[in-house]
Amino acid sequence: MVIRILAAVLLMGLPLAGQKPPVTAIRCGQLFDGKTLSLKQNVIVLVEGNRIKDAGASASIPADAKVIDLSDSTVLPGLVDAHTHTFLHGIDYETALLKKSLQYRAIWATVAARNMLMAGFTSIRDLETEGAEYGDVAVRDAINDGLIIGPRMQCATRALSITGGYSPYGYAPHVQIPKGVQIADGVDGVRKAVREQLSNGADVIKIYIDHRRRGAQDPDRLTAWPTFSFEEVKAIVEEASQVGVKVAAHVYNSAPAQTAIRAGVASLEHGMYLDETTFRMMASKGVYWVPTLMAYVQFMDDAGMDPKRKRIMAGTTAQHREAFQRALKTPVKIAFGTDLDGRHGNAGQELVWMVRYGMPPLEALRSATSVAAELLGWHDRIGTIEPGKLADIIAVRGNPQQDISTMTGVHFVMKDGIVYKH
Ligand SMILES: [Zn+2]
Repeated sequence: MVIRILAAVLLMGLPLAGQKPPVTAIRCGQLFDGKTLSLKQNVIVLVEGNRIKDAGASASIPADAKVIDLSDSTVLPGLVDAHTHTFLHGIDYETALLKKSLQYRAIWATVAARNMLMAGFTSIRDLETEGAEYGDVAVRDAINDGLIIGPRMQCATRALSITGGYSPYGYAPHVQIPKGVQIADGVDGVRKAVREQLSNGADVIKIYIDHRRRGAQDPDRLTAWPTFSFEEVKAIVEEASQVGVKVAAHVYNSAPAQTAIRAGVASLEHGMYLDETTFRMMASKGVYWVPTLMAYVQFMDDAGMDPKRKRIMAGTTAQHREAFQRALKTPVKIAFGTDLDGRHGNAGQELVWMVRYGMPPLEALRSATSVAAELLGWHDRIGTIEPGKLADIIAVRGNPQQDISTMTGVHFVMKDGIVYKH
């Protein structure tokens, strides 16, 4: 045990009693600080222990500092993915849910966590395990304990929907199979479910405010019908907010989105059919939008997909693009999220889609740093490069303001003052 603690201390570069924490100086070619919409030249970032001590052109390098030369690179705060699933891996949903053990899925999630960290994501909000119970809490705790490597995590655990409002669908009434979320109905039912999830380690509550039901699909788009009532969502928000926990709502359509906004949720996820009124309502209530563009785009390069489904996905992604462009004309805050089903190391590609759809590159980067950090409620410690913040720092070669695709090639990753990739 002593050896393990000592190893952890050495690994983390933390000082032993009485010692001054080590100082690292990072020479930056250019710096994006996470909030200013311009790149700064020739900045030196000083890291002491796990915190940023200074960041500016005037910062002088102490004689005993270790120097990391990134003068050929653009340095940025560690990225934040506000909507991901370390427990989804791009295999058929029912195979994952019904044929893979919880243990296997947890091992798989540790690989996703490592891949996200290596792609520059130093913090994530994991929005449900899709039937893998409380596995995300175990992964989060194992990362925090130094057993495995990965981003710092906020976990939604199981998520909530109503009877008849979640996958898998279509089994005979007498066949009981597990669902991908926790099912809860009625004000008392949802209160109990939220209490259960919180007592098992949830940091955020995820709900489905609309979802597929058994029935016909609209030929041109993914469809969804409302789930929880206003009273149910209000009860969910009340239970969560009593302990300072926020609620995230999956939604496609404007009417259920407005129910969720009125009930006090913190963010709406996906929202590919949201209208301008809804975006303006979100802006006035401080509700964030996490569009997750690439989650739907990624299906388009699935060669094996049946043509009808492909047509539906094409219609949906076109409407998603229009919604994104509508939102850009309103003051709604857009927080970066990928909703990736596998290929977690490609998460940076979401930035490419945001820019392709019309968001200026540095605003997209702000969405993936300080704005997402605000949504997580962690803006006091992450999301920007400034004195006092945790030392979550990444770098890419080239200039992401001119070519956002450079963000898919993160070559330097520091989290909490520890270098994981260089
Ligand atoms: Zn999702």
